[in-house]
Amino acid sequence: MRKRLWALLVLCAALALAASQKKLPKPGWNLFSKQQDVELGREYARQVERKMTVVTDKELTDYVTRVGMRLVRQGQLDDYPYYFKVVQDDSINAFALPGGPMYVHTGLIKAVENEAQLAGVLAHELSHVVLRHGTHQATKSEFLQLGAILMGGAGSNGGLAGALAKIGIGLGANSYLLSFSRGMESEADLLGAYTMAKAGYNPIELARFFEKLEAQGSNQNSLVARFLSDHPSPGNRIQGIEDQLPYMPRGPYNAQAGDLKQAQEIVAQLAPVKKRDTGGGAGQAIPQQPPSTASAPVQMPRIELSGRLKTYLGGDFSFAYPEEWEVSNGADQSLIISNQMGKVGEAVGYGIMVYLVPAQAGHVQLRDDTAAYLKQLTKSSPNVKTESEPSDLTVGGAPALLTRFSSDSPYQEQRETDVVLTVDRGASMLVFIFVSPSAQFQDLEQSFKKVSQSVRFPG
Ligand code: ZN
Repeated sequence: MRKRLWALLVLCAALALAASQKKLPKPGWNLFSKQQDVELGREYARQVERKMTVVTDKELTDYVTRVGMRLVRQGQLDDYPYYFKVVQDDSINAFALPGGPMYVHTGLIKAVENEAQLAGVLAHELSHVVLRHGTHQATKSEFLQLGAILMGGAGSNGGLAGALAKIGIGLGANSYLLSFSRGMESEADLLGAYTMAKAGYNPIELARFFEKLEAQGSNQNSLVARFLSDHPSPGNRIQGIEDQLPYMPRGPYNAQAGDLKQAQEIVAQLAPVKKRDTGGGAGQAIPQQPPSTASAPVQMPRIELSGRLKTYLGGDFSFAYPEEWEVSNGADQSLIISNQMGKVGEAVGYGIMVYLVPAQAGHVQLRDDTAAYLKQLTKSSPNVKTESEPSDLTVGGAPALLTRFSSDSPYQEQRETDVVLTVDRGASMLVFIFVSPSAQFQDLEQSFKKVSQSVRFPG
């Protein structure tokens, strides 16, 4: 009797232990093959490297690669063609593309206090790759359209990335591929922490660094806004990881892939990037409208819209747009919704541009942030004239402001009307810019209104 009771107690204790130990997460349902993740990541890597400044310093790249590959090998992460590059951008960020390419901002290298924190961010990002969160999200939201694309040999024209752009999937603001749900964040924390422990880094540093960023993001630092909007906090990260420590490989956690101080010195001595579109974060999300005289004159086309709309589904917002137009990814993580004739060189002659702009002071002050944004925007537009001051409205239940100005159109001898809609999304401002040659604005105004009324924020 006593013996059996003892056995029962042991069994109960074992069950209780098993219940509190989370199983390591596994990839979810996915229409993409692993090979398609890799293919897509390669295509996006080319886009990224056209827009961002990749640091060529070998010592710095080697250091980050050593930290990353230590995690991959010792953490026994699934086999993908991983590589690690440093991009020159002061915002505190790193991102991994499907199938392995990883980009680490110089701002992140500056901000970490020790190598384990750098390893923590890399391990978290690598976990998103291994768990295939990007293509899993795209699959869940767009499976009807994706089926046709993925089965139908999309490789021909513009590759897989080109085919996906047609249904609004890309690297823009709120991309399925780079911005994750809280559930996915928990998974990436858990697998990331486990990977760190296996590689000899103290997993608690992952949570410590993320919580430090969250604390900064909520008071005064727009340099972390993009990271925080892509990786929303799943709640108490430190507690979440501490709870799992007993089930992770034990220390000593004394891994050292190199000299972080040395890496930080290299970063500090990099020559500043020439003022250009670095595409790094939503922070520089100001569209550049070159003067209309820059290239051969383009005649204004006749813009025909049926009034029918189709839907763009982003991670954090959705909206409807004219069915004749397509969504593509612009610089600075923006979306451009237009068609071939709407694009005049680098400028947009008509269409809609969507940006996510981090708040200046951690939290959006709609009037102030809008004023600051418009100041920047109008600086880059030729011969600006304010048509109407900001007026209040509500978009998808959120406070918003509508402002209208005019400027020179990229079409020959035309003026254009620009309607700027700024929406308060807490840590950042969602910006829609509706562009039309002034001569046809009346025809397009109704469609623009429908678009702004269709904006929704799920959850
Ligand atoms: Zn994440």
